[in-house]
Amino acid sequence: MDTYSPVHGGLAWCFDAEVLQRHDKAGPRYTSYPTAPHFHDGFGERQLADALAASNGEGKALSLYVHVPFCSSPCFYCGCNRVITRDRSRGQAYVARVLAEADLLASHVDPRREVIQLHLGGGTPNFLTRDALVELVGGLRRRFTFSSSPSRDFSIELDPRFIDHNDVALLAELGFNRASLGIQDFDPAVQVAINRVQGVGQTLDILQACRDYGMRSVNVDLIYGLPGQTPQGFGRTLQQVLALRPDRLAVYGYAHLPHVFRAQRQIDEAQLPAPEQKLALLGLAVQQLMAAGYQYIGMDHFALPEEDLSLAQRAGQLHRNFMGYTTHADTDLLGLGVSAISNVGASYSQNPRDLPSWEAAVDAGLMPVWRGLQLDPDDVLRAEIIQQLMCHGEADVAAVCAARGEHFDTYFADALPRLAALQADGLAEVIEGRVRVTEQGRPLLRLLAMCFDRYLSQSAPVAQYSLAI
Ligand code: SF4
Repeated sequence: MDTYSPVHGGLAWCFDAEVLQRHDKAGPRYTSYPTAPHFHDGFGERQLADALAASNGEGKALSLYVHVPFCSSPCFYCGCNRVITRDRSRGQAYVARVLAEADLLASHVDPRREVIQLHLGGGTPNFLTRDALVELVGGLRRRFTFSSSPSRDFSIELDPRFIDHNDVALLAELGFNRASLGIQDFDPAVQVAINRVQGVGQTLDILQACRDYGMRSVNVDLIYGLPGQTPQGFGRTLQQVLALRPDRLAVYGYAHLPHVFRAQRQIDEAQLPAPEQKLALLGLAVQQLMAAGYQYIGMDHFALPEEDLSLAQRAGQLHRNFMGYTTHADTDLLGLGVSAISNVGASYSQNPRDLPSWEAAVDAGLMPVWRGLQLDPDDVLRAEIIQQLMCHGEADVAAVCAARGEHFDTYFADALPRLAALQADGLAEVIEGRVRVTEQGRPLLRLLAMCFDRYLSQSAPVAQYSLAI
C-alpha cells in the first residue's frame, strides 16, 4: 500500500493508492455551485442588471476578473479558453472592448464599492503589450474605485517565456502584488511533448524578479500526469522550484479530455502515465511539499504556513470562487472579457465563450451575458455546504440545514448512501451532523462535495469533467 503522510500543519494528507483508484471518478472542481454547465440562457442582461442593483444595497466590496484570451503558442495540454495568435496588436483592440464592457457594468455599480481584488487570467495576460496593460489597468481604475488597503489582492497570471524584468517592474508599478507563473514541468522531454519549452533559469529569474519588485506572493503552477513524465524528472522539477520557495503552489492533475479540448488531440496517449504512475507522481509532489513545510489548502493547492491562504484557512475564512481559493470571501465578482463569469449576490452570469459573439455584444452596447443562473434556496443551501467542504475539508451540514428549518437526514436522504460508500472505505466521516473528509479521502475531496450536488443526481453530464486524480 502506498501511503503519504503529512509532516507539517494545515489539512493533512495520507492516502491509499488502491482505495483512491477504486473511487476515482469524473466530477466538477466546484469553483461554483451550481457549476457552469447548468447555467442557462434564461438569465441574460436584464437579470444581471437586476442582480447588480440589488447588490448595491448590500454594499459588498468588488472583485474584478479580466480574461485575456490570447496566447502566442498552443500548449497541447491546454483546457483554457484561448486564441492563438502572434499579432499583439489584437490585445489593444481587446482592451478597448474590455473597457467598453467595464463602462456598461460600472453604470450599474455604486461607486462607493471598492475593488479589493483584481485578477488578470487567460490565456496569457502578459500577451498584452506594456501600453495595453497600462491602458487596461488605468481604464479600470477610472471606472471603478480601487482599494488602497494593504490586504487588496491584485494578481496576474504570467507566462515566463514572454516576460522580462522591465515588464515585472511595470506590473508592480501598476499595483500588482501577486503573480502566478506557469511552469508545469522542467523536464525537457515533457516540455517537447506538451509544446511548451521554457528554460529553468529564465523561469526562476522571473520568479525572483517578482519578489525583487515587491510582490508579496508568487504562485507556481505544476502539472502531474503529463506525457513522458517520470518521477525522476518531476522530482527534479519540484526540487528546482522549491529551491526558491514560492509562496503558493498549485499541482494540478492533467485531465486528458481530447473530445472537449482540441489541442489535447496533439498529445500522444501512449506517452501518458498509467493511473498508478500518475498517483505516484502526485504522491511525490505531496511528500516533497509537506517535507518543505507547505500547508495543504485543498484541491491541488499548497501554501507556506505564513501565506495569506494558510492564515485564512486556519482562521476559517478561506473562500473559493472562479479564480480559485481566495481570502476575500465577502465580495461580488465581476467578470470581464470573453468567457468571464460574474457572481453577483445569489446569481452567476457568463459571457460568450467565443470572441466574435462577445465582441458583437459589447459593440452593440449590451452587457454581454450569454447564460447564467439565479440560485434558488436549495442551491444556496447546497452551495454553502460545498463551499465549506472545498475550503475546510468539513461542513457542518446539520447546522446549515437547521438554520433553514431543515433536517440533515431527511433533506439529504438521497446523499446518505453516497456518503456511506465513502465512509465504508475510510474516505469520509459523518459525526453528529458534521461531514468531514479524512486524510485518506483528501485527494478525492470533490467526490465528497458531489454527494451534495443535486444536479449530478438529476443528470450525468460527466463527459466534460475530469477525474479527481
Ligand atoms: S496553457 Fe496557458 S499559455 Fe498554454 S495555450 Fe493554454 S492558456 Fe495559453
